[in-house]
Amino acid sequence: MKRQRHVEGIAKDTLYFILEASKSTMPVEFAGLLRAEDDVITEVIMLPGTESSSKSALIRLYMLPNMEVVGSVHSHPSPNLRPSRADLIFFGKTGDYHIIAAPPFDETSWICYDGTGRARRLPILDVELEDDEEDWFD
Ligand code: ZN
Repeated sequence: MKRQRHVEGIAKDTLYFILEASKSTMPVEFAGLLRAEDDVITEVIMLPGTESSSKSALIRLYMLPNMEVVGSVHSHPSPNLRPSRADLIFFGKTGDYHIIAAPPFDETSWICYDGTGRARRLPILDVELEDDEEDWFD
């Protein structure tokens, strides 16, 4: 679908958000899509209609607005970080950076895969995130 895009890494705050969200939705899977700004993953999009259970999360791609995504994120309620067969099919459709997070949801309990399901390096970057809602207080 969308053209493949290279990113330098993921913003630390975005990764923490993913880990926190994954932890708080337990035992249900957390799922979303990843967006990048200036070649850094800074945003997690949760699409309306996403169905989650303790076994799977179904993202309805037709709910995706016309925006570029670089990949996806979802959590596994068990400490198994390997992508399932369904995960691999989904990875092939939605970009080249796919994070799976698993308990205990810390900085070491996640792996990033490429569109074919091969583990890939995704550096954690210390970048300032722009928060539009906070501009008002500047
Ligand atoms: Zn999975």
